[in-house]
Amino acid sequence: MNAGPSWPTASTRLAAVIGDPVRHSLSPALHNAAFRAVGADWVYVALPVPAGRAAEAVAGMRALGVGGLSVTMPHKSEVARLVDRLSPTAERLGAVNTVVPSGHELVGENTDGDGFVDSLRFDRGIDPAGMRAVVIGAGGAARAVVLALAAAGAAQIVVVNRTAERAGEAAALAGERGRAGIVDDVAEADLVVNATPVGMERTVVDLATAQPVPEELPFPGDLLSPGQVVVDLVYHPTITPLLREARARGAVAVGGVGMLVHQAAHAFRLWTGEEAPLEVMSAVALEALAGLRRSE
Ligand code: NAP
Repeated sequence: MNAGPSWPTASTRLAAVIGDPVRHSLSPALHNAAFRAVGADWVYVALPVPAGRAAEAVAGMRALGVGGLSVTMPHKSEVARLVDRLSPTAERLGAVNTVVPSGHELVGENTDGDGFVDSLRFDRGIDPAGMRAVVIGAGGAARAVVLALAAAGAAQIVVVNRTAERAGEAAALAGERGRAGIVDDVAEADLVVNATPVGMERTVVDLATAQPVPEELPFPGDLLSPGQVVVDLVYHPTITPLLREARARGAVAVGGVGMLVHQAAHAFRLWTGEEAPLEVMSAVALEALAGLRRSE
């Protein structure tokens, strides 16, 4: 059990997230609730590790016998070069978000793309197979989504990015079904995914008027139409300006909390070998996000 006055004990296993910043990470709340729910004697902590020190952190994981590691900005690419083996997905992406000990080896995994597809399939009953998808953004999250959509059988994956040359690189992950596109491609899509930070919670105020700056959309809202599925990977706030716009135009709006929970659930299974308590994890994520809003 992972509760009671004598816990943690000498046999409690440790998992952690490394990154910078990590002090607002929701991962400790999610994983500790999951460990408690299944009675696993594990504890999960957040460890701030500045840029350039990932090698020391991974060496520390080996020396200390840490049972599982989550990896976030700015270390995902560097950790991919530090582990002993990569899963095929982590290898294609050149980025690791989960490290799993296996015997004497450390295996690098990337659970973001599977988490994205699971959130569509299991939370919303939406199967991306055969869909024409547009992904806005070409960073780490976008690349994971492009690869996962290709594996899930999407018919076409168009990548639209502020820096055009990065769009082509991300689209190439989908092979012949991928191409770089323009914002107007959104109008023809069945599935639209925002994988940029546009729409994240912020409190920017116009200094001249002292009024909050209007919230942003990653593309013009009039490109959306009824029947489309619109996913915003941004999860803070849980209802973003894009999701509000999508609903107003009759599209199906899917927030980013589901991906957050399902990518964590994959890590949980890889570390513990146990089924992840998804409902508990979702409830904790939503509660923690509501708490963040209240404290702002
Ligand atoms: P990243 O690697 O830094 O990539 C950011 C992408 O957004 C780049 O393509 C960048 O374009 C674009 N971008 C940034 N600011 C922009 C702006 N003002 N206007 C237009 N495009 C802009 O970040 P990431 O790790 O992929 O994360 C992207 C978002 O997804 C973040 O909000 C993150 O919180 C969210 N996310 C959610 C989950 C989840 O579980 N729900 C998981 C991972 C990430 P350039 O190439 O031109 O710089």
